[in-house]
Amino acid sequence: MERVWIRNGWVFTGGDHPRAFAGGVLCQGARIERVGPDPELQPLATGAEELDAGGRLILPGFINAHMHLYSTLSRGMGLKDPPPADFNQILERLWWRLDKQLTLADLGPSAELPLLDALRAGVTTVLDHHASPRAIDGSLDVLAEAAQRLGVRFSTCYEVSDRDGPEAFRAGLAENLRFARRVKGEPMLAAMFGLHASFTLSDESLRACADAARGATLACHVHVAEAASDAADARRRGAAGPLARLAALGALPPGSLAVHCVHTHMDEWALLRRADGYAVHNPQSNMNNAVGAAPVEAMQAAGVRVGLGTDGMQADVRQDARAAFLLMHHRTADPRTAWGELGGLLAVNRELASRLFGVRLGALEPGAAADVVVYEHHPPTPLDAGNFLGHLLFGLYQVPARDVVVGGRVRLRAGEAPGVDPAALAARARALAVELWRRF
Ligand SMILES: [Zn+2]
Repeated sequence: MERVWIRNGWVFTGGDHPRAFAGGVLCQGARIERVGPDPELQPLATGAEELDAGGRLILPGFINAHMHLYSTLSRGMGLKDPPPADFNQILERLWWRLDKQLTLADLGPSAELPLLDALRAGVTTVLDHHASPRAIDGSLDVLAEAAQRLGVRFSTCYEVSDRDGPEAFRAGLAENLRFARRVKGEPMLAAMFGLHASFTLSDESLRACADAARGATLACHVHVAEAASDAADARRRGAAGPLARLAALGALPPGSLAVHCVHTHMDEWALLRRADGYAVHNPQSNMNNAVGAAPVEAMQAAGVRVGLGTDGMQADVRQDARAAFLLMHHRTADPRTAWGELGGLLAVNRELASRLFGVRLGALEPGAAADVVVYEHHPPTPLDAGNFLGHLLFGLYQVPARDVVVGGRVRLRAGEAPGVDPAALAARARALAVELWRRF
């Protein structure tokens, strides 16, 4: 079994009972065997591969709880229609036109670049949500293979919807189930059951998805009330809101992710809590789409577990952590908010991802996953068990990762991913983007 000893660093363990100290982390196979000062670990580390952190900061890998890898090839693309005036027009004029033009050949390169970006940011776990309605069968395998090449811990699902017709609906449903069977027993891969959103699924379709997900013991991963129009649609259908509708039709099995929840209210939050589900906040995406801001502090106060994602804006969830903090200060006009709330978002990411992958993530502790990041960073002020968020928000959020170990394997060494040529990846993506933009 491979052993890696990351030594000579400043360790912040993260987790529910964080500690900070000079020393390192000893990994045995895919798990952490021990953390502590170097003299303590040295006698146990005989024969282990050594990574000298050179006094730099050592952290557990970050977790991105909502991502769309397929959006990569749209960067810089012009639209063919007049600029969208609201969220539904953004979907119709950009994303629903783009996803129809994606081929299986586009998906590998579109996934590899943001996965490499994730590694370079110290994000070691990514929960993806995928759409390519004319290339559904096998699409999740292509994404998972890219994640395995880069070595990122990865979950994906196909966003089932009625919007592309009954054939695409059936293919999406089948793809979720097929992929779930395929990744069973794979420690670095996990499946969820993807749904687009309440407003593009009929009652009958939602029931069929709920039955399929529950039959395969899969949690759902679904957009909820991203814009006010989703909430209005659910009310037109007789529900109190999209969360209430999904819950009533059984589409929130335990552990499900209700992504955004911008336009939800307190009665619905109780339903999400009772369903044993999670909300996921994506502040940068919400600001970019001009859809409003989720009432994160109110949801947390009501006992809703809220995680944090990037929604395809970029691969680095640290940027959304900082955005969540600033947006909450801005929205509440109360500088006392956001500290505890941000800590809560990161804690929920640890919880929901650990549950999904069946191993403790986001903490440098014996028995936890060996997902360890050495940042290109010497803390310029004391970093202790209680002030990590201050370091993250005012400096660490923009520091690149130097060495990254995921599942006990070195996936980034001195800033380079072994066997990966970033320029060649980008060149391949650019060539595909030219063709995709032409078809768009
Ligand atoms: Zn999304």
